[in-house]
Amino acid sequence: MNTPKIFFFDSKPYDIEFFDRANKKPGYNIKYYEGRLNSDSVKLVKGFNTICIFVNDLVTKTMLKSLLENGVKLIALRSAGYNNIDLKAVYRNIHIVRVPAYSPHAVAEHAVALMLTLNRKIHKAYYRTHENNFTLNGLLGFDLYGKTAGVIGTGQIGKVVIDILNGFKMKVLAHDASPDNAYAKKNNFKYVSLKTLYRESDVITLHCPLNKSTYHLINDDSISMMKDGVMIINTGRGGIIDSKALIQGLKSNKIGYAGLDVYEEESDYFFEDFSNVVLEDDVLARLLTFNNVIITSHQAFFTKEALSKIAETTLSNIEDFFAGKILQNEICYKCGNKKCLRKLNGRCF
Ligand code: NAD
Repeated sequence: MNTPKIFFFDSKPYDIEFFDRANKKPGYNIKYYEGRLNSDSVKLVKGFNTICIFVNDLVTKTMLKSLLENGVKLIALRSAGYNNIDLKAVYRNIHIVRVPAYSPHAVAEHAVALMLTLNRKIHKAYYRTHENNFTLNGLLGFDLYGKTAGVIGTGQIGKVVIDILNGFKMKVLAHDASPDNAYAKKNNFKYVSLKTLYRESDVITLHCPLNKSTYHLINDDSISMMKDGVMIINTGRGGIIDSKALIQGLKSNKIGYAGLDVYEEESDYFFEDFSNVVLEDDVLARLLTFNNVIITSHQAFFTKEALSKIAETTLSNIEDFFAGKILQNEICYKCGNKKCLRKLNGRCF
């Protein structure tokens, strides 16, 4: 097999720092490129057999055709989620590896940070005291102790969130397409229907992937079933929430707080500096006007531990591919997970 020649899209200084550190031993040829993968930049990959991409680099059918024409054999995702990939188009056409787990703690802790900040209004208090305003009016919060949290998606991240919320002595209700009943029994929470979760939860936090069944899971209908003043936290993917329905819910005070680390149209804005430009996205602009909404730009994963693991796993995925080894972290179109990875010579197709 060839040796890897890696074209690295969407590279930021922190990516370069952590990848250079992890690449000391294999010493692969990596070309860092700041821009996204798009119809112009795809031409730059000629001569590279591997591209390394992140959450907002889209691999569509047309993009895949260009990548193959340019000699790309492997797409290495630096993320766990892969909703940016047209799985139908890539199936049987190219190998794609991902980083299925880097630090569920990083994302779970950020979700809880959003909960605490919104509830105790730390974002407002920070500015107040800096202005020598030491009043408390408008900063009233509530005890999380004894309240009900609804966790949608109890995979790696959802489970860590449940652990933390159990520490607050919240009552935890959960919903998952494949419930882990043994884990629930041991960890003091109950699986319920979505309707029950919506009806009973004071805080709802989303930790499922974005797929056909979760697209706009939070919409006008589901919001109407929720408690008045509910808090919604989304560190999953933006498309799980219908942002327009969220705005209606916030305007009518049905939704009391929203903590969003992801946004459905984030690829146009997140990870870039638009501080000198007028925002053209009216939905994002409206969301930013609410004083009970906190938006962070897909930073839940952003810890030292997670960045180290992402770099190490990505390079080891690439190494395995070029060594012809079984790819533990390959994405498969049929089931989208690792259960079917070893169908033929270690490839899922
Ligand atoms: P995971 O695969 O371990 O868990 C996902 C869980 O969601 C699984 O238990 C699965 O059964 C469940 N699920 C699937 N479809 C569902 C549905 N329709 N309803 C309810 N549950 C459903 O994944 P994870 O590592 O816990 O990550 C969860 C998601 O978090 C990822 O898919 C990704 O989109 C997102 N994520 C965000 C960041 C960030 O920085 N904001 C970082 C990592 C992951």
